[in-house]
Amino acid sequence: MHPYLRATFWILLYLLLVQAPLFVLLLGPKPAGYGFWFDLSLALGFAATAMMAIMFLLTARFQRATAPFGIDLVYYFHRLASIGAFAFATIHPLLLFHEEPALLGVILDGTLPLHLWTGLVSWVALAALMASSLWRKPLRIHYDAWRIAHVLLAVMALLLGVAHIAGVAHYSATPWKAWLWLGIALSCVAVVIRVRLLKPLQLLRRPWRVVRVIEERGSSWTLVLRPEGHGGFRYLPGQFAWLTLRSSPFAMREHPFSISSSATVPGEISFTIKELGDFTNRIGEIQVGEPAWIDGPYGTFSIDISPAPGYVFVAGGVGIAPIMSMLRTLAERDDRRPLLLFYAYRAWERTTFREELEDLRSRLDLTIVYVLSEPPADWEGERGLLRDEIFARHLPDDRAVRECFICGPTPLIAVAEKALAHQGIPPTHIHSEIFDLV
Ligand SMILES: Cc1cc2nc3c(=O)[nH]c(=O)nc-3n(C[C@H](O)[C@H](O)[C@H](O)COP(=O)(O)OP(=O)(O)OC[C@H]3O[C@@H](n4cnc5c(N)ncnc54)[C@H](O)[C@@H]3O)c2cc1C
Repeated sequence: MHPYLRATFWILLYLLLVQAPLFVLLLGPKPAGYGFWFDLSLALGFAATAMMAIMFLLTARFQRATAPFGIDLVYYFHRLASIGAFAFATIHPLLLFHEEPALLGVILDGTLPLHLWTGLVSWVALAALMASSLWRKPLRIHYDAWRIAHVLLAVMALLLGVAHIAGVAHYSATPWKAWLWLGIALSCVAVVIRVRLLKPLQLLRRPWRVVRVIEERGSSWTLVLRPEGHGGFRYLPGQFAWLTLRSSPFAMREHPFSISSSATVPGEISFTIKELGDFTNRIGEIQVGEPAWIDGPYGTFSIDISPAPGYVFVAGGVGIAPIMSMLRTLAERDDRRPLLLFYAYRAWERTTFREELEDLRSRLDLTIVYVLSEPPADWEGERGLLRDEIFARHLPDDRAVRECFICGPTPLIAVAEKALAHQGIPPTHIHSEIFDLV
């Protein structure tokens, strides 16, 4: 099926799933409404709870559902949809307070019945979820702690939300309607069990082993891994996977990394990782022979998904990793299509893979434009930051038919996307891989 058709199918399914509980509640015998604002408030509450439930599916890394969009886009949508759900969940009680001001008094004097407490605590959990996600970095919450809290708060917000709906029992008093909400809640718990229990169990049964640790230029390391007792997996050049090292797959300590090896070499897989934080700073300490677990492949950042008569690549720093996978694969395939790589780095001495890139030039129809922000005194190439005029100087005449792949720090992606579009490359030909999911 064409990717656009598949994407449309999943979008329609999402809309259907979000709205279905609402419409189902209107079927069969129902109580008389209490007026427009009251009913709107309830509808928003139902919609918020349904949206929360779908979040569990959205983030469960179902490969079929995420493939047409790319997982980064799915996480981005998850972020936006969560803001929407939180807005609905907030307007829901505000409308009720407006219609029924006595409710506020009940909260303040502490006589709130249990089924309303559940709604209130569900909202507080949701608010904590939003604040800790939107402002995780300014609040200095460690990623690993945030992740565990995120799952716990999400489960709590949903289960209490459903308990609130069941307790209020307005529009959901019919037993089968109550069962519907219970079913939704249990499905979410099942998704959590699948992701946090069954998936790690599956990974445990398919271990990998580190067979080489290579120090690269630019404080980066390449880990080469081999599957142990199984055939590994096939991947497209440019895709990524979640890697667990030195902890159990149950520990929720996996990190996403692009696969940097050629997709034509069966079995072995490599990741190129830059020292940047708690986990990555210790990558150089990994010993040959250590076990690893790999969940993948994921992502749509691949030349194999976007065939074209030629390609433009834009890399910044370790953003070269998925592009190396594509270049290595093209070289192995003896591909002679024209390729242009813009590669931004700070210093020539630190430019990762610079020797191999020179070698790839002889095996491919590859032009490389290095852009150094701190070039050596005798540097004759491009200098400074990547910008419009550099693209204008080097992009080929056939630029409009080429597919472009950008990977690097978020500001570089923003500049490159804008410049490439400005230089006449259709937006549908521009693909970016963001290394920062949250
Ligand atoms: C699709 C994708 C592909 C990537 N490919 C590469 C690559 O090829 N090479 C490379 O060097 N880096 C890559 N990254 C980035 C890499 O995942 C992070 O740099 C790394 O997880 C940071 O972990 P840390 O503990 O060292 O850093 P920390 O200092 O703890 O965290 C720095 C930031 O990294 C992010 N982060 C931390 N832990 C995780 C985690 N478990 N899961 C997701 N994000 C996390 C958070 O935004 C955090 O604020 C990729 C990221 C994504 C999303």
